[in-house]
Amino acid sequence: MSDKFQAVVIGGGPGGYVCAIRLSQLGLKTACIESRGSLGGTCLNVGCIPSKSLLNLSEEFHKAQHLSNKGIEIGEVKLNLSKMMKNKDKAVTILTKGVEFLLKKNKVAYFKGAGSFKSKNEISIKDDQNKESLIQAEKVIIATGSVPVSLPGIKFDEKIIVSSTGALKLDQVPKKMVVVGGGYIGLEMGSVWSRLGADVHVVEFLDHITPGMDKEISNELMKILKKQGIDFHMQHKVETIKKNNSGASIKTIDKDGNKKDFECDVVLISVGRQPNTNGLNLKKIGVELDEKKRIKTDKNFKTNQDNIYAIGDVIAGPMLAHKAEDEGIAVAENIAGQSGHVNYDTIPGVVYTTPEVASIGKTEEQLKELNIKYKVGKFSFMANSRAKAIDDAEGFVKILADEKTDKVLGAHLIGSHAGELIAEIGVAMEFGASSEDIARTCHAHPTFSEAVKEAALSVDKRAIHS
Ligand code: FAD
Ligand code: NAD
Repeated sequence: MSDKFQAVVIGGGPGGYVCAIRLSQLGLKTACIESRGSLGGTCLNVGCIPSKSLLNLSEEFHKAQHLSNKGIEIGEVKLNLSKMMKNKDKAVTILTKGVEFLLKKNKVAYFKGAGSFKSKNEISIKDDQNKESLIQAEKVIIATGSVPVSLPGIKFDEKIIVSSTGALKLDQVPKKMVVVGGGYIGLEMGSVWSRLGADVHVVEFLDHITPGMDKEISNELMKILKKQGIDFHMQHKVETIKKNNSGASIKTIDKDGNKKDFECDVVLISVGRQPNTNGLNLKKIGVELDEKKRIKTDKNFKTNQDNIYAIGDVIAGPMLAHKAEDEGIAVAENIAGQSGHVNYDTIPGVVYTTPEVASIGKTEEQLKELNIKYKVGKFSFMANSRAKAIDDAEGFVKILADEKTDKVLGAHLIGSHAGELIAEIGVAMEFGASSEDIARTCHAHPTFSEAVKEAALSVDKRAIHS
C-alpha cells in the first residue's frame, strides 16, 4: 500500500517548501517532493542566495581596494576566487540544510526524487537511481519553478556559454564577459564579475535596462553602472554566438542595421526564465497551460483540475522568491478552508546592484497609461546626512501619490539599503496610507530612511532638507 497524504507539494523551492510547512501547520498530513537533492529550489541553490553572497563578497573586495582613500591602509588586496566560491557554497549548504530541518520540525514528509502524475491523485517519485515509489494525494500543489532560457539554437555549456548557474561558479575571472540581457541577472552577475576584474559588456535588445521598472530609476542605474566600468550596447540583437579556442565570438546588429562583433572568454545569456513543467505528465491529467506555457490557475491558485493547484514561477506573475512564498502560504490557507490572498499591487522588486534598486506599486509610465493623475515626491541621498557622513550618497527616493486622495500608489528607490527601505512603503501601501502618513511618521536620525520621509514631504513640496 502506498502512503496517503492530504496534500503533496511537488517542488521544494521557496514556493513549495513554505507551502508544505504552512499546510502542516494547518493540520494537513503533507509531503514535499524535490528532485534536485537539496531543498530551497532555484533561490537557495543557484539563485538569490549564491548571487547575493557573491555580490557581497565582490563588493567587499572592491571596497577593500579603495580603503586607502578613506585613510585605512591595508596593503595589497588579492583575490582568492576559490575561497570566495567556498564561502558562497557554505552559505548555500547552511541554508538548504536549514530548510530540511524546518520540514522535519513541521512534520512534513520529504521525498527526494522527481515527481510526476500517474493520475490526479497518484504521484510517482523516481529517485536518482530511477527507483520508483508511489504516494496518494488528496490535493496536489505544483511548485516546480522555472529554468533559464537560451537564445534560439544556442546551448549552455556552463563554462563559456553560461546561464546564471554557470556564472555563479566560474573558476577564473574572465578577461572579457559579454552579458546578453540587461535585466536582474545580467546586471547582478555582470556587477559581480566586473568588480572582480572582468571587462563586462551588456548587450540589450531594448533602449533601457531593467524593463518594467520606473524609467527614471532605470536610466539612473545605467548611468551609475557605466561609471563603474560596465559597457552597455543598447538596442542590439544577438545574431550568432560561436565557440572558438579561447572563448566565444558574438555577432550583433543594432536597430539601424549596424553590426558589432565581440570576442570574449565567457558569454552570460540572461534573457529570462521559463516555467518548468517538464516530466510532470500534465497532459495526461488534463492540466491546462497558458500561451506562455505557464500553468493556468484561478485567483485561488486552482488549475482547471479540482484537486490540483500551482504557485510560484510556474504560474503567471513576477518570478520572485517572495511572490512564490506568499502564494505558497495563500494556497495552503485556501486548501485548509481559510481565505489566503496575495496583493499583487504590493510585491516589491529589488535589484541587488550597488547601489540597490527597489520598486513597489505603479511606475510613472503605468500611471500615465492608466490615466491616473498623480503627484511626485523626490529626495536625493545627496541631501541625507547619514549618506553624506559615510560617503554613500548616490541615488534618490521617489514616491508617487494619487493627486486627489494622496494615497501612495508606488515608490521607486535607487541607493544604499533601497531593498530594506522599500519594506516601509510596502506596509504603508498595505494599510492604504497617504504620503502624508509617511511624512508625519517620526524616522530616526541619522538614517537612510529619513530620505523616505523627506520624499513623502516632497509630494506636497515641503521637504525640509532640499
Ligand atoms: P524554484 O525555486 O525554481 O523551485 C522549484 C523546485 O522544484 C526546484 O528545486 C526543482 O528542482 C524542483 N522540481 C522541478 N520539477 C520537479 C519534479 N518533477 N519533481 C520534484 N521536484 C521538482 N528572486 C528574488 O525574489 N530575489 C532574488 O534576489 C533573486 N535572485 C535570483 C538570482 C538568480 C541567479 C536567479 C536564477 C533567480 C533569482 N530569483 C530571485 C528568482 C527566484 O529564485 C525564483 O523566483 C524562486 O526561486 C521561485 O520559487 P519557486 O518555488 O516557484 O521555484
Ligand atoms: P529579465 O527578464 O530580468 O531580463 C531579461 C533582459 O533581457 C531584458 O532586459 C530583455 O529586454 C533582455 N532581452 C530579452 N531577449 C533579448 C535578446 N534576444 N537580446 C538581448 N536582450 C534580450 O530576466 P533575467 O535577468 O534572465 O532574470 C530572470 C528572472 O529571474 C527575473 O525576471 C526575475 O524575476 C528573477 N531574478 C530576480 C532577481 C532579484 O529579485 N534580485 C535576481 C535575478 C533573477
